[in-house]
Amino acid sequence: MEDRYRRQKAFLEIGERGQKRLGQSRAAICGMGALGAMVAERLCRSGVGFLRLIDRDWVELDNLPRQALYTTQDAMEVRPKSIAAQEHLLAIDPNIQLESVVEDLTFANAEKWLSDVDCIIDGTDNFETRFLINDLAIRFGIPWVHAGIVGAAGQSMAFVPGKTACFRCLLPEPPPAEQMQTCDSAGVLGAAVGVIASWQAIEAIKLLVEAEQAGDGCLRIFDLWAGDVRKIKVPRNLASKETDEQLGCRACVRGELDFLNGNVGTQARVLCGRGAVQIQASGREQLNLSVLAARLRAEGEVTESAFLVRFSHHPYVITVFSDARAVVQGTENPDEARKIYARWIGS
Ligand SMILES: [Zn+2]
Repeated sequence: MEDRYRRQKAFLEIGERGQKRLGQSRAAICGMGALGAMVAERLCRSGVGFLRLIDRDWVELDNLPRQALYTTQDAMEVRPKSIAAQEHLLAIDPNIQLESVVEDLTFANAEKWLSDVDCIIDGTDNFETRFLINDLAIRFGIPWVHAGIVGAAGQSMAFVPGKTACFRCLLPEPPPAEQMQTCDSAGVLGAAVGVIASWQAIEAIKLLVEAEQAGDGCLRIFDLWAGDVRKIKVPRNLASKETDEQLGCRACVRGELDFLNGNVGTQARVLCGRGAVQIQASGREQLNLSVLAARLRAEGEVTESAFLVRFSHHPYVITVFSDARAVVQGTENPDEARKIYARWIGS
């Protein structure tokens, strides 16, 4: 039989042994947008045994220039990204094990979705989720690979608990909210995504085959328009004996996993640059989407699929998932979004 991985095994750093390890390894991808979708494809093609695809969003037409896994058809059908990705990846390799999760990653479900994998990929677009992944990685001792991109510039680092610095050593606190709002409204060059996502996939593969070069503790900063890559060694923020204030990294030294413990985080979150607010109704039961769709049909235009119900009532468009999470488009005001949610979906 023809060997699918012949050329990859001929690369000595992988070899027969590395290929076998890849086949036995499990990775979770948080956020199936530009970076996440491409890393998923690279890991799938490289022969990783299991991928869990986690994304709260659906495919839109303006995703397509940079989110290489998706098609116009996916956008037309308003397909959740993780569902669409699962289908495309299965077409690439029918033997891969895939699990798609149409949920927002929060402190309440992070352990369920991330604690049973060998490596976590950061495909998110927000700092809150990155701090959550960092906390979880420390608690369960799981390596993860961060990356981010704006324009044609980006950064990436592999974090290995107990070995390298952690994300909070690099960035002690999330940047203020007003700075975070710019992330999705800023432009992104699709071709630049390919470079950074491929680098992120290489970091993940090195971790999964336990290569000597894996998790070298360096942050890479890419300016791809200029063609520059900078490599910066990030030290662990260890406790210093000199002053009482310097007690070291809150997460990996002091073990205060605020984001995983649910001490931080919001129920209504403004989605940057989208003109939308996400409402996470915690403690609610699963919604019966067809009952909801039938009720809303009397009030406005309704689109329904197995995964979501979309309700338009000018000037708002409300997209509701079966876990009672909703995205309210047409406002960036959390209070207004909460009111709209309470009025149409339930309080
Ligand atoms: Zn740290």
